[in-house]
Amino acid sequence: MPLNNQISGTGTAGTKAVIVVGGGLAGIAAAAALDSSGYRVTLLEARRELGGRASSFEDPESDQLLDNCQHVLLGCCTNLQNLYARLNVANRIEYHRRVHFLDSHGRQFDLWGVAGLPAPLHLGPAMLGFGALTISERKQIITAMLAMLRLGKPGREKLEGQPFGQWLQEHRQSDRVIERFYDPVLISALNEDTRKAGSKYAIEVFQDAMLMNQHGYVVGLPACALEQLYAQRPCPDTRLGARVSEIIFNDLRATAVVLQSGEKLTADAIILATNHHAVQRWIPENLRTADDRFTHLDKLESVPILGAHLWFDKPVMSLSHAALFEGPLQWLFRKDAEGKILHGVISAARDWVDKPRDQCAELFARQIQRLFPHSSARLLRQKIVIEKRATFSPLPGTDAYRPAQEPPAGGIANLFLAGDYTKTHWPATMEGAVRSGYLAAEALTRRIPGTDGNVTGKTFMIPDLPTEWPARWLSARNRR
Ligand SMILES: Cc1cc2nc3c(=O)[nH]c(=O)nc-3n(C[C@H](O)[C@H](O)[C@H](O)COP(=O)(O)OP(=O)(O)OC[C@H]3O[C@@H](n4cnc5c(N)ncnc54)[C@H](O)[C@@H]3O)c2cc1C
Repeated sequence: MPLNNQISGTGTAGTKAVIVVGGGLAGIAAAAALDSSGYRVTLLEARRELGGRASSFEDPESDQLLDNCQHVLLGCCTNLQNLYARLNVANRIEYHRRVHFLDSHGRQFDLWGVAGLPAPLHLGPAMLGFGALTISERKQIITAMLAMLRLGKPGREKLEGQPFGQWLQEHRQSDRVIERFYDPVLISALNEDTRKAGSKYAIEVFQDAMLMNQHGYVVGLPACALEQLYAQRPCPDTRLGARVSEIIFNDLRATAVVLQSGEKLTADAIILATNHHAVQRWIPENLRTADDRFTHLDKLESVPILGAHLWFDKPVMSLSHAALFEGPLQWLFRKDAEGKILHGVISAARDWVDKPRDQCAELFARQIQRLFPHSSARLLRQKIVIEKRATFSPLPGTDAYRPAQEPPAGGIANLFLAGDYTKTHWPATMEGAVRSGYLAAEALTRRIPGTDGNVTGKTFMIPDLPTEWPARWLSARNRR
């Protein structure tokens, strides 16, 4: 592919200049990958810190660095773990092999995997003894899990257009099983109501996290504020407080970005790693016609998430985390050693956006009192953060609207996209964002020559955890 060498940008002789716009996880991943491969990378982030939607803010009242919301990863998030290793923070993630569930009276039920037992056998003993459900309800789930194994990855792709509610009905999953098993897992993983979400994404969560590999389900929680995970810059030229206001195009090439300060930076290639709302504003009408990646972005529906920081006068919860069978809060996390500071999360929080914060806090305090009746703790303070555009909704049919990272033939040849909304086949998650960054970086290396002047095409993506033999065997046996 011919390159416009007159616009060699900020690159020195022999190196190609790449600008990455947006320092969320997608932009960080793309910048780190390309920097390690000899490209001259400039990362531009509008805010004063990196991390985007997975970041922290200073709370002047408590003098603490608070996360906008608790972020959870799973063992199957192979690319996110790889990025944490690149940033030298892999040891800041604490992994929990026991996943705790609480009913509305605080009775605890755990799911855990037997160490060393391959999937899906590892969860067998915990599933068989999961006292939150009757024996016949547990049987229902096992039948559904076998059906998911039988589908494999190709089978779930075919269900892209089907709501998961329909699949659950076809597989005779009762309302109580949905409330006590599917809802706690899926509403938070997909940020969507279990029945409304696309079957492909819902089944992917169970296949990747529970059924294929014994390490997939393990819950990872950062042991520090999210912002501290990005202390090591992904590339030397990382600029914070650098808001891009315009992209300059010359025919079907992006040649430069203009910052709000008026500064203009030229480049050989640009990766847009902002959310899709920003991307839409920058692409002129005539280029949108030539490049179909921008055609359907306005069809992606945004869904809010609520995060509640709650300070109590006495210890409340000793567990590190708990999924709750009954709301309003769906998950709770302990944020200090004593259990006096808790963080609660509501995903798919459409009904909470306009509720007065005090009213929300009162409801949460009452729920926590019911959960932990022996603690006479009083709520001292609350800080509720609602991210209105937290993620896009993985509704059935959404894949048709998610753009590829790489330009199509006849599209804007040196403009790449990254972001959780791009085509990764993952829901909007930190793992999805990192995958998008690595995919964008890989696409760029297929089109823009590296230091040696050759277009080599690098691989940054980390493979999924391998499917273990019982899962392979059960899947093949069931398919007969
Ligand atoms: C409340 C909440 C809870 C969540 N919980 C989880 C969870 O538990 N587990 C999980 O895996 N995922 C979770 N997610 C999803 C996860 O945070 C996102 O999928 C991921 O962080 C998206 O990363 P991104 O890089 O694609 O986008 P963003 O993080 O949105 O990054 C885009 C960046 O671009 C920057 N930008 C925008 N415009 C400009 C401009 N003009 N110039 C320069 N920079 C610009 C923004 O400031 C931002 O930093 C949660 C999200 C939210 C909001």
